[in-house]
Amino acid sequence: MKTTNSYLSRTVSDIKPSGIRRFFDLASGMEGVISLGVGEPDFVTPWTVREAAILSLEQGYTSYTANAGLLELRQEIASYLARIFGVQYQPDKEIIVTVGASQAIDIALRSIIDPGDEVIIVEPCFVSYSPLVSLVGGTPVHVQADKDQEFKVSPEKLASAVTSKTKAIMICSPNNPTGTMLNKEELEKIAALAEKHDLLIISDEIYAELVYDESYTSMAAIKGMRERTILISGFSKGFAMTGWRLGFVCAPEEITAAMLKVHQYAMMCAPTMAQHAGLEALLNGRDDVEEMKKSYRRRRNYMVSSFNELGLKCHNPGGAFYVFPSIESTGLSSEEFAEQLLVQEKVAVVPGNVFGESGEGFVRCSYATSLEQLQEAIKRIRRFIDNHNG
Ligand code: PMP
Repeated sequence: MKTTNSYLSRTVSDIKPSGIRRFFDLASGMEGVISLGVGEPDFVTPWTVREAAILSLEQGYTSYTANAGLLELRQEIASYLARIFGVQYQPDKEIIVTVGASQAIDIALRSIIDPGDEVIIVEPCFVSYSPLVSLVGGTPVHVQADKDQEFKVSPEKLASAVTSKTKAIMICSPNNPTGTMLNKEELEKIAALAEKHDLLIISDEIYAELVYDESYTSMAAIKGMRERTILISGFSKGFAMTGWRLGFVCAPEEITAAMLKVHQYAMMCAPTMAQHAGLEALLNGRDDVEEMKKSYRRRRNYMVSSFNELGLKCHNPGGAFYVFPSIESTGLSSEEFAEQLLVQEKVAVVPGNVFGESGEGFVRCSYATSLEQLQEAIKRIRRFIDNHNG
């Protein structure tokens, strides 16, 4: 018999495991660790939302829904997008309810990419983008956001990555891991490039609910872009629903029809009780979202000012629940910093380089943990820096 590894596809064998995992594995064997590593809300899903799922089970809603999701949920997603983001989508033709934003990204890529097509990915970014592009036979082309411009990407750099094989550009605003939000003018510049070269934009807007200073603009709301945008979003972050596995994708009719084919064969539909919960979240979850936002905003302000006081330069991110301080002043690499901080002070952060080349010299700290824990983490980081300098 051949070795078991030799059965694995070359595509999958070539994909590296996520760099975040190694730190979680290291941290999970230690006691008393404060984790600033996780990318999910510290809130439990609002009670009324949980109750809606319980009620749906009590009522016996345990079958599949329509492949694209419950029509009432799609209708509510459409009015939510119109209300909050000012974009119009037809519930029956342009929206699919997915198993998290993760599956939405996957079906978007599977529907538009042929082997050899290039997808421009702005880094630092969420760790799944490149592997998902590779899994469909596409070629990820990485463009580094500008670390001296709060990790916004320069349109010139983006333009220089476009070739005759480019099919789409993937962006994420507010961003994981930097928290950076692109404003209307910045989105317009990317949109102009997409129009000039006839490209699609896959716009991951999963953190759109969690913005703290300026109002939010969706790529799909930029003039002319609704027809070129595949809008990815979901319930995990804004509504504190990571475990429910519920997201959605919106796109022009033809692209949605293609995505629906992939979705119906590969997934059938998103979990039924989660869809009932999602409906309740959209109908009655506004106050809860606002409360959570207030709390994140306080914590963000605390983390940004604390890091800057410690001499770890940190821009003020407009959204999500991450800060991305520079650790260059310590002379350590991102990996060294994260590893030594974990071993010496039991604080887990994620080295910035796992999100892309330009993340080197930075670490991602999630502030989705209690203020008391954050205060203790900052105390430990201060001691770590003092010892390192001393
Ligand atoms: N996109 C980004 C930028 C994310 O940070 C995450 C979760 N960490 C996802 C997508 C996936 O979210 P979901 O739970 O909806 O699959």
